[in-house]
Amino acid sequence: MELKKVKGNTYYISPDFIDLGLYRLNKEQCLLIDSGFHKTVKNEIIPFMEMNNMTVKGVLCTHGHIDHAGGNNLLKMTYNAQIAAPYVENMLGENSYNMYVLSDNLRFRVFGDTIPDFSYKTDIVINPDYNDFYFLGVDFKVIKIYGHSPYQIGYITPDNVAYLGDVLLSERMIRMTKLPYIFDVGNDLASKENLKTLECDQYILSHKGVYDNIDSLIDQNIDHINSRIEILVDILRQPKCFEDYTADIVKTLGINADLRKIVYLQRTVRSYLSYFQENNLVDAYLDKNRILFIKK
Ligand SMILES: [Zn+2]
Repeated sequence: MELKKVKGNTYYISPDFIDLGLYRLNKEQCLLIDSGFHKTVKNEIIPFMEMNNMTVKGVLCTHGHIDHAGGNNLLKMTYNAQIAAPYVENMLGENSYNMYVLSDNLRFRVFGDTIPDFSYKTDIVINPDYNDFYFLGVDFKVIKIYGHSPYQIGYITPDNVAYLGDVLLSERMIRMTKLPYIFDVGNDLASKENLKTLECDQYILSHKGVYDNIDSLIDQNIDHINSRIEILVDILRQPKCFEDYTADIVKTLGINADLRKIVYLQRTVRSYLSYFQENNLVDAYLDKNRILFIKK
């Protein structure tokens, strides 16, 4: 792993499959934008910091997903790093119970043993009305990118470089992701569209890469979601209960699913169904005590 410069004091590092923002406070100290998985911090970030004589003074979290915030606790224990996370997103990481509540899944043990390492306490909660966030002596601008996760936010560094979390996927990731994970489809589409008003010098995506211009990528991401909406609504030409609907989506999109993937997928399918009902695309009715969904 190497330190890659974007502009001024703004850098990024690329452990396993994520690009993390790194802002240098001085020669020896930095803060990270997202931390990655717990194992990423343990196996890659801490050895990297040791090799480069650097310490992590803080973490700015975009959202509470395990691949973005899973390493927070270890950075806090190792460097006494300050953890700042957006409202609600901070609760996702506090304990597995909150995770279950917010993902509205059964308390299956599908997350394996990742949860105990994942939990962390947030030092500073970034409230939804913040447009700026002053952290460890640095003034960051806050970009509201709700949708993928309830209160996901991005950050613009003083070098006018934006770190955009999971609101956009790279072209390669779009091709690989058959049904992107979304918590609120309406908010997600609006957040993507709003990115067109940004005038940053460069943009870092978590998954992944650095871009000078994101105009065409925004459209590709919106087109991808709209194409999923079309396919998912079309499947409901015949009435279906939730379980059968999810199974049909897996088959139609050719998703290679196991139990764990299906649990995540069900959360996404519920988000799409909510969006369809909000937009009068789909109706629901009761049949022999089963809720059936049908295209309008
Ligand atoms: Zn995410």
